[in-house]
Amino acid sequence: MTRHFNFLTIGAGSGGIASANRAAMRGATAAVIEAKVVGGTCVNVGCVPKKVMWYGAHIAEALKYSAAYGFDVTQNNFTWATLVQNREAYIQRIHGSYQRGFDSNGVSYIQGFARFINANTVEVNGEQITADHITIAVGGRPSIPAIPGAEHGIDSDGFFALTAQPKKALIIGAGYIAVEIAGVLHALGTDTHLLVRKDRPLRHFDHDISDMLLERMTQDKLSLHTHINVTKVEKVSDANLTVHCDNGTVFTNVDCLIWAIGREPATDQLNLAAAGVTVDKHGFIRTDKYQNTNVKGIYAVGDITGEAQLTPVAVKAGRMLAERLFNKDMSDAHMDYRLIPTIVFSHPPIGTIGLTEDEAKQQYGSENIKVYRSNFAAMYNAITPHRALSRFKLVCAGSDEKVVGLHGIGEGMDEVLQGFAVAIKMGATKADFDATVALHPTSAEEFVTLR
Ligand code: FAD
Ligand code: NDP
Repeated sequence: MTRHFNFLTIGAGSGGIASANRAAMRGATAAVIEAKVVGGTCVNVGCVPKKVMWYGAHIAEALKYSAAYGFDVTQNNFTWATLVQNREAYIQRIHGSYQRGFDSNGVSYIQGFARFINANTVEVNGEQITADHITIAVGGRPSIPAIPGAEHGIDSDGFFALTAQPKKALIIGAGYIAVEIAGVLHALGTDTHLLVRKDRPLRHFDHDISDMLLERMTQDKLSLHTHINVTKVEKVSDANLTVHCDNGTVFTNVDCLIWAIGREPATDQLNLAAAGVTVDKHGFIRTDKYQNTNVKGIYAVGDITGEAQLTPVAVKAGRMLAERLFNKDMSDAHMDYRLIPTIVFSHPPIGTIGLTEDEAKQQYGSENIKVYRSNFAAMYNAITPHRALSRFKLVCAGSDEKVVGLHGIGEGMDEVLQGFAVAIKMGATKADFDATVALHPTSAEEFVTLR
């Protein structure tokens, strides 16, 4: 049996779904092949379950500080399994809405693992499917280190599969996932240890921001261990690990070890060679700005390209590709990879867009950079015993003080950033920020009142 489509995506994650739907809306016959579950990483083991857990952690923190607001609350119990059950039910509903979207757009959903046969044919479940245009949107998977006993740990996928709350957790890594999972577990009451191999987590973020994250972690008593590498993991019994580190530290009675050391591309099983598609030394499929691979008619979008690994990036790249191919009014459509805003759902959240102070100095020269920053106590916690600081910062360049970087850590930063990202994308200057009337009382107003 064979079928033919104008547009085929391999992978029904953020990029695959968005591109197939948009192609179908523009009149193409479109199909998407998915090996696991519709929605991909973001919906099933990424953004969505993570944010639900983050909200859970938020409620735990609110309960802790509720007395200052006059509430006499006794917390009797926290049932991890209830939170997980409600989270998964929500994810099921999202699956349903994806299926309805495919149905209304006329996208064919094919369950199975795809492999290339040649440049316009893939094989799935023994069926050969041909297409005029094939988009590779297969995403990535968590990396696990090659050390003895590493298999006794879990990764972020395993974290979302936990049905009971860990008592003592070690999280290894220094990026988004390590910081987010450590924050959630700590807020929910797990004895949490974050182990980073260098001096700090989020090393590549603006240092004013990561400095404040370190302060907040210390204040909140999250155990951060720096300059440390795990060398060996021993399983003593079920849910009882002993973890050895290169500086001599040994962690005992660990019931949950989570590797969060980065993600690797999922290209190895695709038989890319049959299609002639090349990968870089890490396995990522590099594309030009139009998402073209080295083979005509084959494209790549999302995490597999090694570009900013964020859902909205995969979605936008996929939609722009479909517009370019099937909308004659948008024949130059492509994703603009400059100035991508991003949030780390830490405690409190971090938001950032544009250049860090160091990057700006390198790019423009120190003498052409002006930095504005504010440390302040958000009103939300100012009346509680948890008087924690937020820090907001603008990096401006040139005599017109164009805002080339905006960074913040503090309560509400996750919702503050989007609007400022519009302004920065439009080329706003410090004077434009100053000309904007503040919203009071908010944390966001700090950005338009910086001196
Ligand atoms: P994916 O979503 O990974 O989808 C790829 C799909 O392809 C998968 O479903 C896979 O099963 C399928 N597949 C693979 N090989 C084949 C094959 N041969 N045949 C058929 N199907 C195949 N981003 C944000 O913007 N905000 C966040 O808050 C955020 N939080 C995250 C939290 C975690 C824990 C993780 C891991 C990621 C998070 N991300 C977040 C990143 C985001 O999830 C990814 O950037 C996004 O999912 C990438 O989309 P994609 O389409 O490239 O790949
Ligand atoms: P990241 O690439 O963000 O971070 C992994 C970090 O772990 C590295 O930067 C490195 O930091 C450290 N590391 C690497 N190897 C080792 C090792 N062998 N031992 C110890 N530490 C190591 O990866 P993540 O897995 O956290 O996330 C993957 C991507 O998913 C992110 O980059 C992001 O794009 C996306 N994501 C987005 C989220 C969001 O938008 N909120 C949330 C989660 C993920 P160092 O060199 O400093 O040690």
